[in-house]
This record gives sequence, structure tokens and C-alpha cells, in this order.
Amino acid sequence: SIVVTGATGHLGRHVVEQLLEKVPAEQITAVVRDGTRAADFAARGVKLAVADYNAPETFDGLFAAGDKVLLISGNEFDKGRVQQHKVVIDAARAAGVALLAYTSAPGSLKAALADDHRATEEVLLASGLPYALLRNGWYHENYTENLAPVLEHDAVVAAAGEGRVSSASRADYAAAAVAVLTGEGHENKTYELGGDVAWSFVEYAAELSRQTGKEIGYNAVTGEVLQGILAGAGLPAHFVEILVGVDASIEKGELVVSTGDLSRLAGRPATPLAEAVTAALKG
Ligand code: NDP
Repeated sequence: SIVVTGATGHLGRHVVEQLLEKVPAEQITAVVRDGTRAADFAARGVKLAVADYNAPETFDGLFAAGDKVLLISGNEFDKGRVQQHKVVIDAARAAGVALLAYTSAPGSLKAALADDHRATEEVLLASGLPYALLRNGWYHENYTENLAPVLEHDAVVAAAGEGRVSSASRADYAAAAVAVLTGEGHENKTYELGGDVAWSFVEYAAELSRQTGKEIGYNAVTGEVLQGILAGAGLPAHFVEILVGVDASIEKGELVVSTGDLSRLAGRPATPLAEAVTAALKG
């Protein structure tokens, strides 16, 4: 089987949808916390397994020898994600899976956000399992799903200076993951994944202006100012810290990925940012 954790998440849904185009549904297992949220997958013949990274026993017997597994990193920052991921890796090792692919972060990213990913990579390498590191860059959607304040104030606000980002859509990262899960020769490979074009916030604002007909500028602020804005908008403190840290990394160029790995794996160009903006504006 091809087994996908986090299958009811944003990325996981794209992965399962794209797998369904390539392999028979009965060869796909979606690992979910809540089976009712995956009823659409089950109706199409995808097998469901209910398990939680916080409950190791729920992974007992879930994997079989020869499975190819995609471990999608969790989003519970306060619950010890490295230990959560280790639960999945340990179960995969006990079963003797053929490949464990993990959605990591770019090797160049030094922000605190990357710490859990680096530590998970270490656990995975130490496990001796055949692995694939899918070091995903930033999502277009991190920006295009948060357009409301931008359109309200006619300003893109970031603390990233003139830094650039090689973002791509979640569907692009899913395509790369599907290529690794359904193809051959990906054992013990590390892929640095990102969009084909690294853009700056000035360019992003210009693209928004072009598509909306409004005059939208880039308001480059300091990390301190951004922290105040995000905290004022009611975001939890730890999340604010992560976002400010990411912008500082962007300013240093840590989210530029220029390997071409994503489009090579996907077999097509990555989705341009402009296209993601168009889709978001259509709602
Ligand atoms: P989502 O938040 O949409 O999905 C996270 C998935 O992880 C969900 O399916 C969720 O399950 C699952 N999950 C979380 N905790 C547990 C747990 N304890 N046990 C089992 N499953 C769990 O994120 P995306 O799909 O957009 O992105 C995937 C991952 O990539 C994120 O979790 C995060 O680690 C990382 N990320 C990357 C970004 C980037 O720009 N590259 C941006 C943001 C996140 P459920 O569906 O039940 O909630």
C-alpha cells in the first residue's frame, strides 16, 4: 500500500486526490484522526486507518512490510512534534516499510520553525529505514489565503526586507510527493522543493495591484513592528514568534530554493504565484 498520514489536512487531501489519478484506490490508505472527515475518500475505495500521533498504540499494526509511507508533519507545535513523528517512524520500522517519505523544511531554513524538521530528519536517518526527505519550501497559500487584510489596507506588510521566496502551491508539493511514492529510485534521497521563480514582496504587491486594479504597495516593517501587528490581530504569541522568525529568514534568503527538484519530480513547471493569486481572488 501507499499510506498517507495527515490525509484530511490541506496537503494530504491534494496527495490522496493525485494518487487516485495514478493508482487503484484500494492501494491507498489514508491515515486520519477522524474517519467522518474522510468519508469522501472511503466512498471512492480508499482504505482508512484511524490513528493519532499522540497515541503510539494506534499505529500498532497499521503499516505492512513493503508499504510506502508519506509522513506529513503535524501542526501541534505545543505537543512535541518530534516525538509525534518518532511514533510513526518507529511503527514503520517495526513493520519494515519500503520507504518513509517525510515532509520537511528547506535545508537552508534556519528559523526556529525548522528545528522540529531537522530533529525529525535525524530520527528518520537513525532508524535505518529507506527514507526520502521532501524538504518543502513555503506555500503560495500562506499568502494567498490571507488576502483580506491586504485588500483592506491596500498594503502587503512583511518584515522580510528585499528577501525573496520560492513558494509553490500545495498541489505542486503534493505532485512531488506522489512522484516519489509511485516512482522508483527515491530511496535515501533528499529533495529541496520550491517554486520555479523566487519573488520579492514588491513584486507580489505589484501582482496584486495588476489583478485587482487597486494600488497595493509593500510596507516593509521591522520584526518588532510586525510582532505588534500580529499580536494586535489576536494571533497566539508562539505563532507570532514563528511568523516573525520566518520573515527574518526570508530577508536572509533562506526560503529561496533553486534546485529545480520540484518541477523535475512533478514533470511540469510549478504553479506561478500569479495563478495562485487569481484563484484566491476568485474565492
Ligand atoms: P494542515 O494543518 O492542513 O494539516 C496538518 C495535518 O496533520 C492534518 O491532517 C492533521 O490531522 C494532521 N495532524 C496534526 N496532528 C496530528 C496528530 N496528533 N495525529 C495525527 N494527525 C495529526 O497543514 P498542511 O496540510 O497545509 O501542511 C502539512 C504540514 O506542513 C503542516 O502540518 C506543517 O507541519 C507543515 N506546514 C508547511 C507550510 C509550508 O509553507 N511549507 C505551512 C504550514 C504548515 P486532522 O486533519 O485530523 O486535523
